[in-house]
Amino acid sequence: MTKAIYPATFDPVTNGHVDIAQRASKIFSELIVGVYDRPMKSLLFSTAERLEMTRQAVAHLPNVSVESYHGLTVDFAKSHDATVIVRGLRVLSDFEWELQLSLTYHSLAPDIETVCFMASQEYSFLSSSILKDIALNGGNVKHLAPSVVVAALQKRKTRLNEDNVKNVSVRD
Ligand code: ADP
Repeated sequence: MTKAIYPATFDPVTNGHVDIAQRASKIFSELIVGVYDRPMKSLLFSTAERLEMTRQAVAHLPNVSVESYHGLTVDFAKSHDATVIVRGLRVLSDFEWELQLSLTYHSLAPDIETVCFMASQEYSFLSSSILKDIALNGGNVKHLAPSVVVAALQKRKTRLNEDNVKNVSVRD
């Protein structure tokens, strides 16, 4: 009966994240997905939006719940009596950061283990940034993100285009 958390920014959640949550949910008795409540500054979506999209994306997984959190990730784990932190590993360049992160977690909370899942081949190139880049430039992302995210990105693209048109006419 091991409880785990899967913390990330999820700006926005991708099929790569859902794949990790799905696979982790088969191994751990309960998985709590933690949407990190960072200041809005460099994020495309608000915490409330990221939370809602992530909730919808994993709604089909019965032992998975989603919450937002702020502060230390190890404190979020402790508040749920979780002893495992789940992360994903895509390319080699992820390794350095994930190792640093897991050593940091260990130094703060030695009883908590970090477990990294290897990315599935079809999502091993996929990040939230790449997803946003493709979508906001008019590319098709239906195969890369849950439908709620695809719709939200489309809406955001339309809004950004409208804002650009307004700015151009103000400058003219
Ligand atoms: P953060 O900015 O909080 O690190 P990310 O969304 O970039 O949030 O990543 C959160 C975790 O999910 C990381 O461990 C990352 O390696 C993993 N992850 C992100 N995208 C994928 C993917 N396509 N496949 C597998 N793991 C992924």
